[in-house]
Amino acid sequence: MQTQPPCVLLLGGTTEASRMARALAAAGIDAIFSYAGRTQTPVAQPLPTRIGGFGGVSGLAAYLRANAITHLIDATHPFAAQISRNAISACAETATALIALERPAWAPGPGDHWRNFPSLEHAAAALPEKPERIFLAIGKQNLDVFAHRPEPFYLLRLVDAPTAPLPFPNAAHVLDRGPFSLESDRALLRRHRITLVIAKNAGGDGARAKLDAARALHLPVFLIDRPALPARPIAATPEEVLRWLHHGAARGV
Ligand code: NAP
Repeated sequence: MQTQPPCVLLLGGTTEASRMARALAAAGIDAIFSYAGRTQTPVAQPLPTRIGGFGGVSGLAAYLRANAITHLIDATHPFAAQISRNAISACAETATALIALERPAWAPGPGDHWRNFPSLEHAAAALPEKPERIFLAIGKQNLDVFAHRPEPFYLLRLVDAPTAPLPFPNAAHVLDRGPFSLESDRALLRRHRITLVIAKNAGGDGARAKLDAARALHLPVFLIDRPALPARPIAATPEEVLRWLHHGAARGV
């Protein structure tokens, strides 16, 4: 039986986290939103917001204690494995209830030409010899993985303008922030005469447009599998998370 009103830490950085923030604010739940601080102009949230790392598991545990957090909602990107692992450990250490708001992984349908890879390194090693025109839709953090394959043309989509030269001799970038649409992504792939799409299996609606566009244009896709995480409670929607909060989540997951 829950005896105190929840005080929530919401780990964000995704479209789903912003949806969760709106749901918490609308429900009048005491909550703090946390960004890693990867982009110059993060989306404004309807919750008090903090920005920056906590300092590993011990830093996060100290933050949970200092702010009397009762519930942690991990709505980070499925490839943000470090913070998710830290959240599992820090919640166990402080007996804070934990739930992950996790979108289901994308699955191929008729007309998709996907190859799955366990890592970006595996995908880079499997690039064909003939120079491709690649939409490298993996964000900005892991571009170096492809630096030893300078033959292709790479199209990047970034939130902020690059502050250092891109590690490719033949590349272009567009600045944009999701959610994206099938129409605009199909036009983008056509405009740059893309022959191969490389993406992380992020799941969700906002980023799936590139896969739908690849299907529409009969393009192959290299899709990177999600990193494995220890078992943790998972909700698929903000509504499910609210039910979990209202019905007194067990602490110390
Ligand atoms: P990561 O590798 O799991 O995290 C690295 C470190 O960044 C963490 O140890 C933590 O630092 C800090 N951090 C991450 N998320 C945080 C948050 N919400 N609040 C405070 N600190 C956070 O994650 P990442 O790949 O760097 O991604 C960072 C953020 O970008 C995440 O919030 C994620 O949702 C978002 N994002 C990631 C991807 C991706 O493909 N990885 C794509 C889109 C958006 P300390 O150890 O110091 O606490």
